[in-house]
Amino acid sequence: MKRPYCVGLTGGIGSGKTSATDRFSELGVPVIDADTISHEVVQAGQPALQAIAECFGAEVINADGHLRREYLRKLIFDDPSARLKLEAIIHPQVFNEISRRLSLVKFPYCIVCSPLLLKSKSAYDLDRILVIDASEKLQIERASRRDNSEECEIKKIIDSQSNRQDRLASADDIIINDKDLSFLHEQIGKLHEKYLNIAKKGVAQCS
Ligand code: ATP
Repeated sequence: MKRPYCVGLTGGIGSGKTSATDRFSELGVPVIDADTISHEVVQAGQPALQAIAECFGAEVINADGHLRREYLRKLIFDDPSARLKLEAIIHPQVFNEISRRLSLVKFPYCIVCSPLLLKSKSAYDLDRILVIDASEKLQIERASRRDNSEECEIKKIIDSQSNRQDRLASADDIIINDKDLSFLHEQIGKLHEKYLNIAKKGVAQCS
Protein backbone atom coordinates (compact mmCIF):
# COMPACT_ATOMS: atom_id res chain seq x y z
CA MET A 1 0.00 0.00 0.00
CA LYS A 2 1.08 3.58 -0.73
CA ARG A 3 2.90 5.19 2.18
CA PRO A 4 0.96 8.12 3.75
CA TYR A 5 2.37 11.64 3.72
CA CYS A 6 4.35 11.93 6.98
CA VAL A 7 4.44 15.02 9.16
CA GLY A 8 6.96 14.96 12.01
CA LEU A 9 5.68 16.90 15.02
CA THR A 10 8.24 18.06 17.53
CA GLY A 11 8.88 20.65 20.23
CA GLY A 12 10.54 21.04 23.60
CA ILE A 13 9.16 19.87 26.93
CA GLY A 14 5.83 21.49 27.79
CA SER A 15 5.56 23.19 24.38
CA GLY A 16 2.22 21.49 23.73
CA LYS A 17 3.05 18.43 21.58
CA THR A 18 0.53 16.19 23.34
CA SER A 19 -2.16 18.87 23.27
CA ALA A 20 -1.48 19.21 19.53
CA THR A 21 -1.47 15.48 18.75
CA ASP A 22 -4.66 15.05 20.81
CA ARG A 23 -6.29 17.58 18.51
CA PHE A 24 -5.00 15.91 15.34
CA SER A 25 -6.40 12.61 16.70
CA GLU A 26 -9.78 14.25 17.29
CA LEU A 27 -9.73 15.27 13.63
CA GLY A 28 -9.22 11.61 12.71
CA VAL A 29 -5.50 11.83 11.88
CA PRO A 30 -3.43 8.78 12.85
CA VAL A 31 -0.71 9.72 15.34
CA ILE A 32 2.40 7.60 15.87
CA ASP A 33 4.27 8.51 19.05
CA ALA A 34 7.98 7.72 18.73
CA ASP A 35 8.52 8.33 22.44
CA THR A 36 5.95 5.71 23.41
CA ILE A 37 7.48 3.26 20.93
CA SER A 38 10.97 3.89 22.32
CA HIS A 39 9.61 2.81 25.73
CA GLU A 40 7.89 -0.25 24.27
CA VAL A 41 11.01 -1.57 22.50
CA VAL A 42 12.90 -1.77 25.81
CA GLN A 43 10.19 -3.63 27.71
CA ALA A 44 11.21 -6.81 29.54
CA GLY A 45 12.10 -9.58 27.11
CA GLN A 46 12.53 -7.33 24.08
CA PRO A 47 15.76 -7.84 22.03
CA ALA A 48 16.75 -4.17 22.47
CA LEU A 49 16.82 -4.61 26.26
CA GLN A 50 19.17 -7.57 25.90
CA ALA A 51 21.41 -5.52 23.60
CA ILE A 52 21.47 -2.65 26.13
CA ALA A 53 22.51 -5.09 28.89
CA GLU A 54 25.30 -6.45 26.69
CA CYS A 55 26.53 -2.93 25.98
CA PHE A 56 26.13 -1.28 29.41
CA GLY A 57 26.28 -4.23 31.81
CA ALA A 58 23.71 -6.58 33.36
CA GLU A 59 23.06 -4.11 36.17
CA VAL A 60 20.90 -1.98 33.81
CA ILE A 61 18.20 -4.62 34.30
CA ASN A 62 16.49 -5.01 37.67
CA ALA A 63 15.47 -8.27 39.35
CA ASP A 64 12.07 -8.20 37.58
CA GLY A 65 13.76 -8.07 34.17
CA HIS A 66 12.86 -4.39 33.59
CA LEU A 67 15.14 -1.59 32.47
CA ARG A 68 16.50 0.65 35.27
CA ARG A 69 15.77 3.88 33.41
CA GLU A 70 17.15 6.29 35.97
CA TYR A 71 20.39 4.31 36.26
CA LEU A 72 20.82 4.25 32.47
CA ARG A 73 19.95 7.95 32.20
CA LYS A 74 22.77 8.73 34.65
CA LEU A 75 25.20 6.54 32.69
CA ILE A 76 24.61 8.44 29.46
CA PHE A 77 23.93 11.93 30.83
CA ASP A 78 27.48 13.28 30.57
CA ASP A 79 28.82 10.76 28.08
CA PRO A 80 27.99 11.53 24.42
CA SER A 81 29.59 8.31 23.15
CA ALA A 82 27.46 6.21 25.53
CA ARG A 83 24.38 8.13 24.37
CA LEU A 84 25.27 7.36 20.74
CA LYS A 85 25.67 3.66 21.55
CA LEU A 86 22.25 3.63 23.18
CA GLU A 87 20.68 5.43 20.22
CA ALA A 88 22.31 2.95 17.82
CA ILE A 89 20.50 0.15 19.66
CA ILE A 90 17.12 1.84 20.06
CA HIS A 91 16.67 3.89 16.87
CA PRO A 92 16.58 1.00 14.35
CA GLN A 93 13.96 -0.75 16.49
CA VAL A 94 11.88 2.42 16.75
CA PHE A 95 12.27 3.05 13.02
CA ASN A 96 11.10 -0.49 12.18
CA GLU A 97 8.06 -0.15 14.40
CA ILE A 98 7.19 3.27 12.96
CA SER A 99 7.50 1.84 9.43
CA ARG A 100 5.25 -1.08 10.39
CA ARG A 101 2.60 1.29 11.79
CA LEU A 102 2.88 3.57 8.75
CA SER A 103 2.17 0.62 6.49
CA LEU A 104 -1.17 0.18 8.32
CA VAL A 105 -2.30 3.82 7.96
CA LYS A 106 -5.41 4.30 5.86
CA PHE A 107 -5.53 8.09 5.93
CA PRO A 108 -3.95 10.54 3.46
CA TYR A 109 -1.40 11.72 6.02
CA CYS A 110 -0.20 10.92 9.49
CA ILE A 111 1.68 12.55 12.36
CA VAL A 112 4.88 11.07 13.80
CA CYS A 113 5.52 12.76 17.14
CA SER A 114 8.82 12.91 19.02
CA PRO A 115 10.77 15.45 21.09
CA LEU A 116 13.92 14.10 19.34
CA LEU A 117 12.81 14.08 15.73
CA LEU A 118 15.23 16.71 14.58
CA LYS A 119 18.22 14.69 15.63
CA SER A 120 17.09 11.84 13.41
CA LYS A 121 14.89 13.50 10.81
CA SER A 122 16.28 11.62 7.85
CA ALA A 123 16.26 8.34 9.77
CA TYR A 124 12.49 8.63 10.18
CA ASP A 125 12.05 9.55 6.50
CA LEU A 126 9.64 12.41 7.18
CA ASP A 127 8.11 14.61 4.49
CA ARG A 128 7.68 17.65 6.66
CA ILE A 129 8.38 19.00 10.14
CA LEU A 130 5.85 20.85 12.31
CA VAL A 131 7.32 22.52 15.39
CA ILE A 132 5.12 23.40 18.35
CA ASP A 133 6.85 26.28 20.04
CA ALA A 134 6.41 28.23 23.25
CA SER A 135 8.71 30.55 25.15
CA GLU A 136 10.98 28.95 27.74
CA LYS A 137 9.03 30.77 30.44
CA LEU A 138 5.75 29.19 29.28
CA GLN A 139 7.38 25.76 28.86
CA ILE A 140 8.60 25.91 32.46
CA GLU A 141 5.27 27.20 33.82
CA ARG A 142 3.17 24.60 32.00
CA ALA A 143 5.42 21.58 32.48
CA SER A 144 6.10 22.26 36.17
CA ARG A 145 2.39 22.75 36.85
CA ARG A 146 1.48 19.59 34.90
CA ASP A 147 4.18 17.39 36.51
CA ASN A 148 4.12 19.09 39.91
CA SER A 149 7.89 19.39 39.61
CA GLU A 150 10.49 22.02 40.43
CA GLU A 151 11.07 24.69 37.78
CA CYS A 152 14.84 23.98 37.88
CA GLU A 153 14.18 20.33 36.91
CA ILE A 154 12.25 21.45 33.82
CA LYS A 155 15.02 23.93 32.99
CA LYS A 156 17.59 21.09 33.11
CA ILE A 157 15.51 19.07 30.64
CA ILE A 158 15.15 22.08 28.34
CA ASP A 159 18.94 22.51 28.37
CA SER A 160 19.44 18.84 27.46
CA GLN A 161 17.03 19.01 24.48
CA SER A 162 17.61 20.34 20.96
CA ASN A 163 18.47 24.00 20.79
CA ARG A 164 15.29 26.02 20.21
CA GLN A 165 16.70 28.04 17.30
CA ASP A 166 17.97 24.88 15.54
CA ARG A 167 14.57 23.30 16.00
CA LEU A 168 12.78 26.33 14.56
CA ALA A 169 15.27 26.56 11.68
CA SER A 170 14.42 23.02 10.52
CA ALA A 171 10.65 23.58 10.67
CA ASP A 172 8.41 23.64 7.62
CA ASP A 173 5.51 24.80 9.79
CA ILE A 174 5.52 26.41 13.22
CA ILE A 175 2.70 26.87 15.69
CA ILE A 176 3.47 29.37 18.42
CA ASN A 177 1.46 27.92 21.29
CA ASP A 178 1.37 31.04 23.44
CA LYS A 179 -2.37 31.57 23.66
CA ASP A 180 -5.25 29.41 24.85
CA LEU A 181 -6.13 25.92 23.66
CA SER A 182 -8.82 27.17 21.28
CA PHE A 183 -6.15 29.18 19.45
CA LEU A 184 -3.96 26.04 19.25
CA HIS A 185 -6.92 24.07 17.86
CA GLU A 186 -7.63 26.78 15.30
CA GLN A 187 -4.02 26.66 14.04
CA ILE A 188 -4.15 22.87 13.85
CA GLY A 189 -7.43 23.02 11.90
CA LYS A 190 -5.73 25.20 9.26
CA LEU A 191 -2.71 22.90 9.00
CA HIS A 192 -5.00 19.87 8.81
CA GLU A 193 -6.65 21.30 5.68
CA LYS A 194 -3.24 22.14 4.24
CA TYR A 195 -1.81 18.66 4.88
CA LEU A 196 -4.90 16.99 3.40
CA ASN A 197 -4.47 19.09 0.26
CA ILE A 198 -0.75 18.33 -0.03
CA ALA A 199 -1.30 14.64 0.59
CA LYS A 200 -4.12 14.46 -1.96
CA LYS A 201 -2.00 16.15 -4.60
CA GLY A 202 0.85 13.81 -3.67
CA VAL A 203 3.26 16.71 -3.84
CA ALA A 204 5.67 17.76 -1.07
CA GLN A 205 5.26 21.51 -0.85
CA CYS A 206 7.50 23.59 1.37
CA SER A 207 5.27 26.45 2.44
P1 ATP B 1 6.28 16.87 27.11
O1 ATP B 1 7.39 17.09 26.16
O2 ATP B 1 6.68 17.04 28.51
O3 ATP B 1 5.51 15.60 26.87
P2 ATP B 1 4.31 18.42 25.65
O4 ATP B 1 5.07 19.17 24.63
O5 ATP B 1 3.59 17.18 25.18
O6 ATP B 1 5.23 18.10 26.88
P3 ATP B 1 1.74 19.19 26.73
O7 ATP B 1 1.70 18.06 27.71
O8 ATP B 1 0.84 19.12 25.55
O9 ATP B 1 3.26 19.44 26.27
O10 ATP B 1 1.47 20.58 27.44
C1 ATP B 1 2.06 20.87 28.72
C2 ATP B 1 0.97 21.38 29.67
O11 ATP B 1 0.52 22.64 29.19
C3 ATP B 1 -0.27 20.47 29.71
O12 ATP B 1 -0.77 20.47 31.02
C4 ATP B 1 -1.25 21.14 28.74
O13 ATP B 1 -2.59 20.89 29.09
C5 ATP B 1 -0.88 22.61 28.91
N1 ATP B 1 -1.08 23.39 27.70
C6 ATP B 1 -0.58 23.13 26.46
N2 ATP B 1 -0.94 24.10 25.59
C7 ATP B 1 -1.69 24.96 26.30
C8 ATP B 1 -2.37 26.19 25.96
N3 ATP B 1 -2.35 26.70 24.73
N4 ATP B 1 -3.03 26.82 26.94
C9 ATP B 1 -3.05 26.33 28.19
N5 ATP B 1 -2.44 25.20 28.59
C10 ATP B 1 -1.76 24.52 27.65
